[in-house]
Amino acid sequence: MKASKRKNKPGKIFILSGPSGSGKTTLLTRLIKDKKIAKSLVKSCSVTTRPRRPGEVQGKDYFFVGRDEFRRLLKAKKILEWTRYLGYYYGTPKGPVEKLLKEGKNLGLCLDLKGASTLKKIYPRNAVTIFVLPPSIGALKARIEGRCRETNKKEITQRLRLAQKEVLAASHFDYRVLNRNLRVALQETRKIFFKEKT
Ligand code: 5GP
Repeated sequence: MKASKRKNKPGKIFILSGPSGSGKTTLLTRLIKDKKIAKSLVKSCSVTTRPRRPGEVQGKDYFFVGRDEFRRLLKAKKILEWTRYLGYYYGTPKGPVEKLLKEGKNLGLCLDLKGASTLKKIYPRNAVTIFVLPPSIGALKARIEGRCRETNKKEITQRLRLAQKEVLAASHFDYRVLNRNLRVALQETRKIFFKEKT
């Protein structure tokens, strides 16, 4: 396609969803690091009231804000979609998403089921939904426990319970990727990207 034509085409939104611990964030991070993809895919950084985990970076993993700030952003209509997940708020900033799409950039987001469904409704032609499936409940439990070592047992149980419900929604997505082996799952996600990208 000619560069001038591509310029006028809005970008696509790649939404990775799936239970906590399915590996969707790792998949998106690796996809963006791929040499052939890096220039054409940008990660959208969400706003959240969840406390920062060790190793997470402000403005890279999330914009960590207090509840009042989150409410202010909502009221000012600066959030495109939002959800409440296990007591914390998460939202997609509107401005950057609209700007990047207009520029014809492809966007990558990791969202819960509600977020994936909202964005698909807002952008029916541009949103590509991918559900990342964990290989088993046992594997999921191990991943969640590993990640939540710093947090409490209650949160681990809640995330697992929710995960069991979430996998039932997989059939409503455009694509499903089984993450038994990260390398294979990445290859599949890459194929989807090249098939669908602007
Ligand atoms: P975590 O606390 O594990 O980082 O995220 C919890 C859940 O919230 C995950 O399913 C994650 O994909 C989802 N999430 C993160 N940011 C957003 C967002 O901006 N909107 C929605 N709807 N979900 C989000």
